[in-house]
Amino acid sequence: MMAEIYLNGAYVAAEQATVSVMDRGFLFADGVYEVIPCYGGRPLGVDRHLERLGRSLAGIGMRDPLGRDAWQAVFARLLAAAPDTDQAIYLQITRGAAPVRDHRFPAASTPTVVAMSKPLPPRAPSIAEHGVRAILCEDIRWSRCDIKAIGLLAAVLLRQQAAEAGAEEAILYRDGQVTEGSTSNVFVVAGDCVMTPPTSPRLLSGITRDLLAELLRAAGIECMEQAVSVPVLQQADEVWITSSTREVAPVTAIGGQPVGTGVPGPLWREADRLYQDYKMRLRSGHV
Ligand code: PMP
Repeated sequence: MMAEIYLNGAYVAAEQATVSVMDRGFLFADGVYEVIPCYGGRPLGVDRHLERLGRSLAGIGMRDPLGRDAWQAVFARLLAAAPDTDQAIYLQITRGAAPVRDHRFPAASTPTVVAMSKPLPPRAPSIAEHGVRAILCEDIRWSRCDIKAIGLLAAVLLRQQAAEAGAEEAILYRDGQVTEGSTSNVFVVAGDCVMTPPTSPRLLSGITRDLLAELLRAAGIECMEQAVSVPVLQQADEVWITSSTREVAPVTAIGGQPVGTGVPGPLWREADRLYQDYKMRLRSGHV
């Protein structure tokens, strides 16, 4: 049985959680979303996620219809349904329904606000042992990937292309430079230097990315925001992908070619240890 869903101020069963076909999310993908991982009933980086939500909304000319305290209350209620399991909260805001289909913003509309939670399963042991495979693809997405927009068709097609190639992720490049994964950010290790492409409209400023960079620096490991060309990616000693649901995952093959020695590397082990340690402190209320 699915847990209840928050829809426009009410908590309803999944079957009752319906929106209009005139909703601009449905007609135009006119909306934004967030995914927040939660451990021991505590959302990880909730302020960062809500700040990014605010930036995404500002990017499409909307304001946060709830605000921090109201969101916290929604998250607490959703998480209370399964207090002992790690969860991923998904929230989405669209510009709402208008009487006619018209690209221009309606003069008045009420946003559609949805939030739901699902269990976040622990990482499969094979990932730490063998890593994941990726493919390399041209970035076919739009030029405002810093907005966490619900229009994900390009990401859907790229991720499906990866799946059909037996890979976990599609790593993307534009004009010869790595941007990010279809659903993740990318880190590259060359020697003892860790690099990730700088924030720009071409990629999403991942919460896991930002947190990991801080954890690495606090542990004395150099981590630079720096452009990563395709050859640098292909000659890297290690490649990692990061996201709220996949944490820090080692990429051990790209397009059938091994990354470094073809097994998860020593700096990944250190990065993963730092991230797992952060999760543990969150669980016990220490961050
Ligand atoms: N880039 C893209 C395109 C993504 O879809 C995601 C995950 N939603 C990320 C990066 C990683 O962001 P986060 O660490 O905030 O989950």
